[in-house]
Amino acid sequence: MAKESLSPNECRDMLLAAADKIIEAEPILTDADRALGDGDHGIGMQRGMTAVKGKLEGQDFDSIDKPFTTMGMAMMSSMGGASGAVFGTLFRAGGKALAGAESFGAAQLADFLSAASEGVQTRGGAKPGDKTMVDALVPAAEKAEEMKGGSLPDAMAAVASAAEAGKDASKDMIATMGRAKTLGERSIGHPDAGAVSVSIIFATMSDFVAS
Ligand code: ADP
Ligand code: MG
Repeated sequence: MAKESLSPNECRDMLLAAADKIIEAEPILTDADRALGDGDHGIGMQRGMTAVKGKLEGQDFDSIDKPFTTMGMAMMSSMGGASGAVFGTLFRAGGKALAGAESFGAAQLADFLSAASEGVQTRGGAKPGDKTMVDALVPAAEKAEEMKGGSLPDAMAAVASAAEAGKDASKDMIATMGRAKTLGERSIGHPDAGAVSVSIIFATMSDFVAS
């Protein structure tokens, strides 16, 4: 049965599913970062998500924001580097916007993504078009805003598609941030590794609320 809204512990389980999928996707993320960066994105995300599992598994949550902020802090403290700060901020800033919410529905998804996308851009300085995970995150946040009056499964599915389309669009962009920027035009043809991670995370969240 599709889920119309999630309790704090259902949010925890959704995030644990995303953590497992990212750990499983390590070879894909490694290859993506090898094409453009230094090849450590898969291992870094795997380390971060293992730390996330350690903090979330078996823990009872009584507010919606806590599973998300706990995930963000675990990533920040375990991953280091650009992606630790950026992905940690996604979940921490997004989660903070959910403080006081009774449950996680389409409106909360929009609030989460709006704060996450703003937080990541403030923290990392990347803008849409710079060929970073922002190119998957910003379209996802815009889609969530559009869908906030509807059902959670519909909103989550649309958000996952928007993130995937953003990841695909990043193939044609020239990197201007991070390690890939030294490649210039040679960065064309490959999707950004962090955008691949974002699209995997939202696809897994969508599968979770649909089932
Ligand atoms: P590092 O760049 O330290 O090797 P990773 O390889 O784990 O870290 O992560 C690289 C990913 O991080 C990139 O693919 C990009 O999506 C994201 N990233 C790097 N710098 C930024 C930034 N300033 N803003 C947003 N995302 C960024
Ligand atoms: Mg790297």
